[in-house]
Amino acid sequence: NLQLKSQNHKSFLCPNDNIKRRGLMFVISAPSGAGKTTLSKILLETDKHIHMSVSYTTRPMRSEEIDGLDYHFISIDKFKQMIDNDEFIEYAKVFDNLYGTPKKEVERNILFGEDVLFDIDWQGHRNLISRARQDVVSVFILPPSKEDLIHRITKRGKDSIDVIRNRIESANWEICHWHEYDYIIINRDIEESLTKIQSILRAERLRKERRIGLPDFVGNLIQQDIDLL
Ligand code: 5GP
Repeated sequence: NLQLKSQNHKSFLCPNDNIKRRGLMFVISAPSGAGKTTLSKILLETDKHIHMSVSYTTRPMRSEEIDGLDYHFISIDKFKQMIDNDEFIEYAKVFDNLYGTPKKEVERNILFGEDVLFDIDWQGHRNLISRARQDVVSVFILPPSKEDLIHRITKRGKDSIDVIRNRIESANWEICHWHEYDYIIINRDIEESLTKIQSILRAERLRKERRIGLPDFVGNLIQQDIDLL
């Protein structure tokens, strides 16, 4: 169960050296070509407390991809079996292929106070929110202009014109969902956008809802402490 378990006042207090927090589910979505992959990669390299959620997909593997690292590439039958076994937190059809987020790994990280990064689309974000709103923090990345977006989509040079057309249509559809996210970043400069993402993460980690412990003096200062002065 991904929902935060309610805690009574007593169990909420714990010794200073044992203060923990619940991990958060950090979603970064963007239309193709907005810089999401680059930003996610640097974030993962620079912060050891956030871990990528590796999705399962039925899409064919691209030449530069590594099975188990970029995705777990599986057949449609295996994907359906995983749905039946309730192994996904969410799954969706994107560009005619199925994509799903595995449940077990995410739950384990969250419970151990580690954060999980999700590179998923607006449908996945919606599903996560409906299941675990308190744990989800989401950022939508936008390119600075239409020209920039189209340039970034086409300059990859490894896709056919039909695929490119499909991606531009999908980018448009993805962009329409910007308002469902907690934060919006216009990616003019990678360094600047990264700093913004890191600031969001830093602040969100401090939210009281994620606390599992507080110093034991909280709500506990008494006459004895005054006498000791
Ligand atoms: P690509 O095939 O180019 O790697 O990804 C296509 C789209 O699928 C991207 O927008 C990506 O965010 C989305 N995606 C990747 N994994 C998942 C997932 O597990 N769930 C959902 N809903 N979308 C995903």
